[in-house]
Amino acid sequence: MVDSDHIDVMVLGAGVIGTFAALELQKSGKTVTLIDRQLPGSATSMGNAGVLNRGSIIPFNNPALLKQLPSLLTGQKTGFDYKLSYVFDEMSWGLRFLSHCNAADTLSRAIALNELITRSAELYKQSLLPEMLNEGGWLKVYREELPSENSIEMIALHENDVRYEALDAHAIQELEPSIKGEQLKALWIKDTMALKDPQQTILAIARNFEHLGGEFIRSEIRELSRENGKWSVKLAAGENITSDHVLVALGPWSKDFLEELNIHVPMAYERGAHREFEEGPVQLTRPIHDTDAGYVLSPLDKRWRITCGVELASLDAPRSSKQMDDACTAMQTLVTPGTKIDKPDWLGSRPTLPDSLPAIGATRQQNLWISTGHQHIGMASAPASGELISDLINGREPKMDPAPFSPARFNI
Ligand SMILES: Cc1cc2nc3c(=O)[nH]c(=O)nc-3n(C[C@H](O)[C@H](O)[C@H](O)COP(=O)(O)OP(=O)(O)OC[C@H]3O[C@@H](n4cnc5c(N)ncnc54)[C@H](O)[C@@H]3O)c2cc1C
Repeated sequence: MVDSDHIDVMVLGAGVIGTFAALELQKSGKTVTLIDRQLPGSATSMGNAGVLNRGSIIPFNNPALLKQLPSLLTGQKTGFDYKLSYVFDEMSWGLRFLSHCNAADTLSRAIALNELITRSAELYKQSLLPEMLNEGGWLKVYREELPSENSIEMIALHENDVRYEALDAHAIQELEPSIKGEQLKALWIKDTMALKDPQQTILAIARNFEHLGGEFIRSEIRELSRENGKWSVKLAAGENITSDHVLVALGPWSKDFLEELNIHVPMAYERGAHREFEEGPVQLTRPIHDTDAGYVLSPLDKRWRITCGVELASLDAPRSSKQMDDACTAMQTLVTPGTKIDKPDWLGSRPTLPDSLPAIGATRQQNLWISTGHQHIGMASAPASGELISDLINGREPKMDPAPFSPARFNI
């Protein structure tokens, strides 16, 4: 007999990672409850650029980063900023992050990320209506030279069969007439899709989850504990909910939350912001990445969204608008947007682990699972991350090698 109140898995956090995990678990026949203090997809997963990009298989900590380090640390790149006190506090994370900047390590991590992102693209196509996806690829625009054939980026694209085309200024104009610039060059990464609206996508996935019988509870989660062989969460209203398994998918909040259980996740925050504009006079049909200025400009439903690069800082540190202002100045030399939409800049934090791979799998505590640390590629990798954690919780053979993502690599 089935106990109607019995919950197999509680998923904590309804960002893109938790929501896809909840859907995959529910599809597998588990009884799942998804909990978040906000509506699904309202935090980091709302404000991103929405690019589902196989060009992003090359993690940020690659050999090129070491060469750029002096200019990054001396504030010469719009795409990177940091709070000095945070960098000092997170020095050991930073050294571990930089220790991965060699070619062999980068190429093996690219293979792992490629599996996650490629499988996710298939799952997105199965789960979303075609009009929610832009399948036009994305343009990486260079103001000087394209990366050389023996750069790590090009080697990774070739090794992983990512389809791309190199464009000169004339070809860029033909493809995307909104982009100005006689000297520009670009890589058109064709194996890339983009979401027309990141949060609407997650709300659609959450509706699908509920349609299959999953339960969503909107509440602050106060505490997680293990009692009588079950996991129990205390919600803000005082209610307790118990389940056999629990999956922590709290994005950048996972670190502090798990600390309470004596689980130390080596996570740092790569903060970023967005600003939105009305559509420009000439249509933009695919996202562009201005590689020199470090921002991404995405044409969403009836608006353009610019997301700026990285600021290493704590979650709640005050933020100046300078990085975004500089990105917008650079953007105006490439394209002409419409009027700025009158709302404050959005701020979010990419949760990043030292090897730039997410941690997806079991922890050392029984039936406590995590899926977090999806840095710059959470949207692009969420469906396959959900499928992987569902396979692991169900004890099934996963469709991809789980080892690169194992939380055990950090002794978690
Ligand atoms: C500027 C920017 C641009 C980006 N662009 C892209 C891109 O183009 N493509 C891409 O693939 N990725 C991109 N990313 C990365 C991507 O957005 C993240 O990797 C992804 O959103 C992380 O999802 P998540 O579900 O782990 O976290 P979140 O979306 O933050 O979800 C965590 C959830 O936990 C909830 N929560 C936390 N604590 C509690 C609590 N105590 N009680 C209840 N609920 C709680 C929060 O409300 C939240 O909904 C970008 C990120 C930024 C910042």
